[in-house]
Amino acid sequence: MNDSSPEKCPRCKRECIFKWKDFSNGMRHIAQSCPIHGQIKYVPKIEPYISLANANQKKNNTVQKKLFE
Ligand SMILES: [Zn+2]
Repeated sequence: MNDSSPEKCPRCKRECIFKWKDFSNGMRHIAQSCPIHGQIKYVPKIEPYISLANANQKKNNTVQKKLFE
C-alpha cells in the first residue's frame, strides 16, 4: 500500500533533492525537487526533511570549496 515514499518523486519515483530556500522576509523553507521534474513542492520543516536538506547543503559547500581551490 505505502509504496510511495515521501522522499521520492510522485511521478517518476526517483529520489528527490531537498534544499533550504531562504526568503527575503527571513523565512526558511525546504524545497523538494526531482532531478527530472524540477521543484515539486515545499515540505514541512520536520524530519527527515531537515536532515536531508542539511546534508545536501554540506555537500554543496564542499563542492564550492573544491571549485575555488
Ligand atoms: Zn520526477
